[in-house]
Amino acid sequence: MLEDNGIYKLKRYFALALDPIHVGTGGYRIGRVDNTIVREPATGIPKIPGTTIEGCCRSYAYLKLKEDVKNINIHCAKGKPKSETEQPCGSCEICITFGYTKRDKSMQALALFSDARILFFPVATMIGPVWITCPMVLKDAGMMNFPEPSDNEFIANKNLERLLTEEGGKYILNFGWLILKGNVEEINVNLPKSEEIENILNRIVIVPDELFSTIVNSNLEVRTSIAIDPETGTVEEGALFTYEAIPRGTVFWLDVIYQNPKNFQLNEWNTELIIKTVEDGLKLFEFLGVGGMGSRGFGRLKVIGEFLPFDKYLEALEKRLEILRKKHKNDKIQAICNYLKNIKSEYTNWIEKIEEIINKFCR
Ligand SMILES: [Zn+2]
Repeated sequence: MLEDNGIYKLKRYFALALDPIHVGTGGYRIGRVDNTIVREPATGIPKIPGTTIEGCCRSYAYLKLKEDVKNINIHCAKGKPKSETEQPCGSCEICITFGYTKRDKSMQALALFSDARILFFPVATMIGPVWITCPMVLKDAGMMNFPEPSDNEFIANKNLERLLTEEGGKYILNFGWLILKGNVEEINVNLPKSEEIENILNRIVIVPDELFSTIVNSNLEVRTSIAIDPETGTVEEGALFTYEAIPRGTVFWLDVIYQNPKNFQLNEWNTELIIKTVEDGLKLFEFLGVGGMGSRGFGRLKVIGEFLPFDKYLEALEKRLEILRKKHKNDKIQAICNYLKNIKSEYTNWIEKIEEIINKFCR
């Protein structure tokens, strides 16, 4: 937790691309690429917009809840009315966490998502893949105490020293087509423990801010594909197209701000319940992916972070049940009881605590 006060909690997550990631700008044509991806306007560095993360997270959190509860309203998945009679409920975990619009009422989201921005970007070099970053990116991600490279030079992690070639007192390394001189130093960055990221941290190279965007943009994946006419199943005429993507192995960072529901007159809710809903969604990015072209093996993203422990969630749920009992909201209590009975077998480590809550609140 980065910040925690009565108004909101701020949590930072990291994410590793398990596939190339393509979040398109909507298909207009720039140069040789037909399907370009979203970029930061100031730097030209590709990113995944917060709205994309939020949209996927909502759908996946809905799927998770549906699996556990089974009778959740389908219009809560979108949060918008489809017709007079087909409306989101406005009172479930999904509506409260991600906001909703109904005929007579609407509410903003309690969870606010930042863009997912690139932290470490993989580049092929003569010593194998390295992951580049730069001082600006590290500072934005809240990292401190890292060495800063001189103009047009790199600083490689000390672990890479034995692999590098020396020339005139400096090491040299190519980043795609660009060759730079540089030095080695100990680079320590603070990330949550994760097996997948361990190897990446050993192969970090810091490049100057001015070169980061250039190296990233010249090392994106560009692929050519053909469009199939969905009606005939044959190749469309003139249907050869190219698209770009952020490569597999890229590491991103993103923040989620969790606003305190009590400040929105949602007294039965608490922040932990909002965090749990979002994190259930984020955990499914690893399997269901973000962005376009999912059917072409794109978009799976493993989110890494200090997720809310399950016992903290159960405590938060118990607090909600106590408030619901005081207000005699028996149908809501019943719904939570059904949910707890459904998930009991999935969480064998917590079965005693779950049964304790069931005995206390459920009939
Ligand atoms: Zn709902």
